[in-house]
Amino acid sequence: MQPLDSQELTRARDLLRKGDVVAIPTETVYGLAASIASHEGLKKIFSLKERPFFDPLIVHVGSFQQAKEIVAEFPPLADFLARRFWPGPLTLVLPKAASVDPMITSGLETVAVRYPAHPLAQDLIKMVGSPLAAPSANKFGRTSPSTAQHVKTEFEGSNLLVIDGGPCEVGLESTVLTIAKAPNGDDQIRILRPGGVTAEDLREALDRWSKPVEVVRAESAESPGHLKHHYMPTIPLILVSEKPSAQTLSEIAKDLALKSLPKHARELDLSEDAAQAARLLYSEMRRLSESGADLLYVLETPERQGGLWAAVWDRLTRAASWTKTDGSRLDPESP
Ligand code: AMP
Ligand code: MG
Repeated sequence: MQPLDSQELTRARDLLRKGDVVAIPTETVYGLAASIASHEGLKKIFSLKERPFFDPLIVHVGSFQQAKEIVAEFPPLADFLARRFWPGPLTLVLPKAASVDPMITSGLETVAVRYPAHPLAQDLIKMVGSPLAAPSANKFGRTSPSTAQHVKTEFEGSNLLVIDGGPCEVGLESTVLTIAKAPNGDDQIRILRPGGVTAEDLREALDRWSKPVEVVRAESAESPGHLKHHYMPTIPLILVSEKPSAQTLSEIAKDLALKSLPKHARELDLSEDAAQAARLLYSEMRRLSESGADLLYVLETPERQGGLWAAVWDRLTRAASWTKTDGSRLDPESP
């Protein structure tokens, strides 16, 4: 990480205030930010990322007060979770305030809100004086950036200002959740996207909540933008239960309509430690894709389950072009 020139934050503030975009560090991944007060800035996020308008943005706030200003309602359970997990990698989907630009929410009546923990993100939000809408700073569908250099490489040739806040501590996107009613009338937490705050973390926190709350994983259809294919590296990535044999490689080449048989397949070797695996996942995907390899494989191992692994496997499954885990499930998809 390069030492931050104090004038850079001032420059970022000025750009954001006049409706431009700036790449900012957060503890999850780097974000491509615009002020929520600038419709032009918000439009630039979508055009620079080549992101479809149906995929809503997360609004990053610098205080609880700012969060309350952009929602129509902050139910007591949401308040409890925010007080437990903010600032941090938890995004709450809540009814939106009328003032929130529909471009942020893709026309939905709800808005996704997060209070990031990274000190530079917090400083900048305070300096701008308005929350920042910020999706991950990568082209749509591609691997998210967890260092400033990743962002610079992704947007080479553009004059995007990238604030370097060092490598991201979590390395994966935030947990996105919404609060609904269970059939028995109890509150229910629906995890729209697994992330840095795990289902286990939520259940543990809810031990101190006065009423019973179920924590469930939502269907993908409830989460606009959380597509089957996402986070994809520039070379095919496959999930397998063992090192691919010559036979498997030729099946893959056929299924993916590759021009030639992969000659330099490399393993993306995940740490045994979930936090470490999450932190390094995107860096490793990028590093190995640029290493001369023509195929990446990840060994799916039954012992890497639970906690943060849910988020790691969610990203890997969406990043994969092809999976063969038990010899019977074959799911070829073009990259
Ligand atoms: P990112 O691209 O990492 O900023 O993540 C944004 C994701 O948050 C979207 O792709 C959605 O899956 C989710 N999201 C944002 N706003 C909403 C919303 N109003 N309702 C449901 N999910 C949302
Ligand atoms: Mg993203």
